[in-house]
Amino acid sequence: MSPGRVPLSQPAFVPMSLAEMRVLGWDELDVLLISGDAYVDHPSIACALLGRWLIAHGYRTGIVTQPGWDTPDNLLAMGRPRLFCGIGAGAVDSMVAHYTAFRKKRHDDAYTPGGRAGARPNRATIVYANLARRAFPGVPLVLGGIEASLRRVTHYDFWTDALRRPILMDAKADLLVWGMGERAIFAIARRLDEAGADADLTGIDGTAWMARTAPDGLPGNLPPGYSDLAYEALPSHQALLENRDALLVLTKRLERQVHRGDAWAFEDVSGRSVVLAPPAAPLSTEEMDAVYGLPFNRKSHPAYKEPVPAQAMLATSITSHRGCGGGCSFCALAIHQTRHISSRSRESLIDEARRMAARKKGGRGLAISDVGGPTANMWQAHCALEDRCAARRAAAISPQSAQTRRPVGDAPEPRCVTRCRKESCCYPSVCPSFIAPQREHVSLLRAIRDLPGVSQVRVASGIRADLAMRDPRSMDAYTGEFTGGQLKVAPEHCVAEVLALMRKPGIEVFEAFLESFVRQSRQVGREQYVVPYLMSGFPGCTDEDMRILARWLAARHWTPQQTQCFIPTPGSMATAMFWCGKTENGDPIYVARTDAERLRQHRILMPAAGADPRATGGRFAKKPPAGRGADRDGVGAGQSDARRGRAKGGEGRFDERRDSRPPHARGGEALRDGGRTGRSRPRAAHTERRNTRADGRAPVHADKGRPRPAKGKGES
Ligand code: SF4
Repeated sequence: MSPGRVPLSQPAFVPMSLAEMRVLGWDELDVLLISGDAYVDHPSIACALLGRWLIAHGYRTGIVTQPGWDTPDNLLAMGRPRLFCGIGAGAVDSMVAHYTAFRKKRHDDAYTPGGRAGARPNRATIVYANLARRAFPGVPLVLGGIEASLRRVTHYDFWTDALRRPILMDAKADLLVWGMGERAIFAIARRLDEAGADADLTGIDGTAWMARTAPDGLPGNLPPGYSDLAYEALPSHQALLENRDALLVLTKRLERQVHRGDAWAFEDVSGRSVVLAPPAAPLSTEEMDAVYGLPFNRKSHPAYKEPVPAQAMLATSITSHRGCGGGCSFCALAIHQTRHISSRSRESLIDEARRMAARKKGGRGLAISDVGGPTANMWQAHCALEDRCAARRAAAISPQSAQTRRPVGDAPEPRCVTRCRKESCCYPSVCPSFIAPQREHVSLLRAIRDLPGVSQVRVASGIRADLAMRDPRSMDAYTGEFTGGQLKVAPEHCVAEVLALMRKPGIEVFEAFLESFVRQSRQVGREQYVVPYLMSGFPGCTDEDMRILARWLAARHWTPQQTQCFIPTPGSMATAMFWCGKTENGDPIYVARTDAERLRQHRILMPAAGADPRATGGRFAKKPPAGRGADRDGVGAGQSDARRGRAKGGEGRFDERRDSRPPHARGGEALRDGGRTGRSRPRAAHTERRNTRADGRAPVHADKGRPRPAKGKGES
């Protein structure tokens, strides 16, 4: 808590209008949050979580969502904020939200009232920053969210097929928060509150800022103490432009900087440097409980006249943790949420379920669609080596200082430091130090299921087969009690070389899992399905590899269910491999690079997928889309780069289904990328779903009274 600040009482909704501010007795805002998503009051929605978090720390916070981008008028609705503007594109990178894996325009948007696409501009972070600068000259601008986080250094941009410089340079903002935002946003508010608009915002863990490059090649004006810290020198922007392989080096160093926890990093861009502070310390269990225990009502703000589709999928889901130890190469989660897992306590989760059940009116009781995170069965997972570090750190704290610890949420916290340099806790096999207590997770699910007013509990986030199989009894429980007719597992492929490039375990792990699933399903007399996630177009995957996968499926009489075409979104190792055509180790690989090549691979599994892109002009469609959002690149200063985006395909030809699972575990900043981030499948994937029996026989309809595969959106 800042000196002189007392927690404010939590309103029914974080205000979105002057009238709501007046009801609360606020004459001005301290912080204005601008979001590319509609406001649903759920902890998975970043503006809701951070808004309530700031209010809990005494800062009057308001939200503007999906402002028009022709003029800054919408931003002026609640007046000039006293401290700063926080800007986020939403739960999804705006380009992923707008275009499919084949660069076709999407029609729908689950985070917009009415579900229609077109409510936010392309590269929304940059456009909103320009709007905010026009609306509030002199007010510090702070970027956050998945779009800003994964674009914090030079990155590959699939939609222009080029490298783009760090987003801070295009947005011309004062600061960027990467990763989970609670600690950083609180520290920013406190510094500005105490020192005014001229406060020094550098050196806050989990942030990035621009500095001039000093003659010695390092950034100038480094914060105190940085000269004693380790750092990662990322390849310069110029080096990246000159040598494609440099993106591999940058991605590796970025992964390492995030994972080790105690290093800062920098990248030189034409005589200026983007400086990345060490990652913010992950929230402790007590802090996670405090954040998720805020009084979210799970409803859309009443200002909206049409329902926000995401609300339905959020209404019955519970976030149990953040982070994932998997480190899959196509997923940028590791450089956003990190591989450290922050879990809520059992009591907090049970309490949330109890409150949800109490609010349910009528019917047969509450069906909880999901209790999960990026990977459901990593709740309370941790590294045994980190425990030793934590124990050593705790021993170093005197009893007296332990008693005078700052209250929850105060920054800075001790950094979470590890000496481990592995890229994954689960590849090539589960690390002996990775402790993922499956029985405790199952016990939690049972405790929630047995609450009065709860009729069932499902795990929709997807589980990791290799972890579940380490404990047969837990495996039986997932299969027999919490599957809900479908269990999502992600083998991704069956060819060993491709799986190795993905940092995924061999297919034998999935096959053993399947055997166990079928046996247990028969034992409990249920018709259940495994929904295998599969991927086409991955760097290193050839057409022949896809045909092998097709034959593997055919041998089991399986119809592909969740097949996505890889999207090289910013930040992941697979994206670097896509860009330079090499493995992590620098060995050349085949890359299906053009839309035609990618679609050809995709059609090997999904013959009906899309139209041939050559019909619309080949690799990049030429005709700009029409209607609202047609010129989504927005207007305003500094938009030249954004305007050059060529991802303006004609109307999408793919009637794509989008994954309906809630965006778990995003905390400060919700997360979803084109690989897979957080708990979710990317919306960019071309996805079809049919029912496949777990025993491999032809699908049949479930009998009445038996669990049925869910249909349509909201499917669990
Ligand atoms: S030692 Fe093992 S469990 Fe710990 S961080 Fe490294 S890979 Fe993960």
